[in-house]
Amino acid sequence: MTRRSVATVVASAGVGSDPAYGSLTPPLWTSDTYEWGDPEEKPRYDYSRTVNPNRDLVAAALAELEGAAGGVLTNSGQSAALLALLLVPPGGLVVAPHDCYGGTYRLIVGLEEKRLVRARFVDQADDAAFERAMDEKPALLWLETPSNPLLRVVDVARRAAHAKAAGALTVADNTLLTPCRQRPLALGCDVVMHSTTKALNGHSDLFGGALLVADPELLEKAHWWANAAGLSASAHDAWQTLRGLRTLPLRVDRQEASAREIAAWLSERPQVAAVHYPGLESDAGYQLAARQQDGPGFMLSFRVKGGGAATKAFLNELQLITLASSLGGFSTLICVPSTMTHRGMPPEAQAEAGIDPGLLRLSVGLEAPADLIADIERGLAAAA
Ligand code: PLP
Repeated sequence: MTRRSVATVVASAGVGSDPAYGSLTPPLWTSDTYEWGDPEEKPRYDYSRTVNPNRDLVAAALAELEGAAGGVLTNSGQSAALLALLLVPPGGLVVAPHDCYGGTYRLIVGLEEKRLVRARFVDQADDAAFERAMDEKPALLWLETPSNPLLRVVDVARRAAHAKAAGALTVADNTLLTPCRQRPLALGCDVVMHSTTKALNGHSDLFGGALLVADPELLEKAHWWANAAGLSASAHDAWQTLRGLRTLPLRVDRQEASAREIAAWLSERPQVAAVHYPGLESDAGYQLAARQQDGPGFMLSFRVKGGGAATKAFLNELQLITLASSLGGFSTLICVPSTMTHRGMPPEAQAEAGIDPGLLRLSVGLEAPADLIADIERGLAAAA
């Protein structure tokens, strides 16, 4: 079957799924439990931790978008990451990017301290370092591209092929780009992870995660663990995620167009020391992003000249843009990763990844780009 467009998948997901009244939009099935006709015959829906119709609708839509056999909807991005890591055999080696999301770093290190996995954080753009890590026969390769917050791009197809040859599963955190802009399974990955808290829901009003799995047997294992460990998303969060998902392609188009404009504008400002955005021709990841992504996305990071005092003055002056952790929502957010999103990473690991207090991360929302630029301009004037 030919692949349906993202717009069609999200607009039609769950339509016609109400068996009782034929409502257009799917109802919210909040019941914790379901009636059995016969104790010997488990019904399709029996207990909501295990299986729930609202979760199933979102998982089916996301699985179609990512080209997966199916998916598991979890109660946060972190529980989706944990679920992926629970697929690693005892003591298996996890190779993750040295500049991954701080919460992912914290989780992998926490599991290593309990001796459930072993961990290596490597610069995945460095061929020699990556090859050395693959020589150690890892069980799982974790990809996050573009990385958060430095927007570094790694070659997904090349890295996933190498991992497969080494016997490892590849999991890609696709939160920053969404399936509108990158489809890691088509590039050879085994599992895609999302924080649905971010752009997939897009309204900054819930927590959720998802694991989309290519292999049906591995999918079964993920469902088993989600049920066993109680990681499943609530029916309400799943219902609301589907509502947010309806407008995903429209939001990503608009947010990305604004991010392009802001990144280009920032790169010409004398008060700005650096801009990291794979949509800029000057960016190290530009060529690779143009090849493996369908667009550069809505995230960028930058540095203001003048050190800590200038950065503080810049942030204090912003009126429209909010200083807050999170990304992908309707509202433009700025954060200082070193003390906010990446505080789970110790200072040495931050330094190795290139994260310091002068780095600012911007998640571009749905406001008019001219108003966002005016806000940033006000900040830069205060920092000068
Ligand atoms: N992955 C990425 C790239 C993130 O940015 C985040 C959160 O910021 C997560 C995973 C974790 O998701 P959640 O906050 O929903 O647990």
